[in-house]
Amino acid sequence: MPLYRDYKQCHRVVWMMLPMFSLEGQGKLLATMMSLDNELSNELEYPISDATMRYNLTQTLQSVLWELPEAVEMGFGEWLKQEVALKVNALEYHDYNCKGGCRICQEIPNL
Ligand SMILES: [Zn+2]
Repeated sequence: MPLYRDYKQCHRVVWMMLPMFSLEGQGKLLATMMSLDNELSNELEYPISDATMRYNLTQTLQSVLWELPEAVEMGFGEWLKQEVALKVNALEYHDYNCKGGCRICQEIPNL
């Protein structure tokens, strides 16, 4: 089962994870997200697929996971399964219940 429903969800989950990383790690993630978000908004003749976008962002995420001893110890695959599920649940709970204007709405961009 894929970790994320689509790139938009992947983007929100990674955004929620940002504070876990060093400024350098955050910079890498933000740069990848910005270039992928551009792909999304440009109407290209051969658009990059949603799966490729998820893959690219996951690659960058894995490159910064070395910063987290817990993730290194647990193994990136296991750690991601657990953390992504937590964040996806939080987002789903939020989307269902929020009437707008909360911290998640303000801080997590929704593409
Ligand atoms: Zn909200």
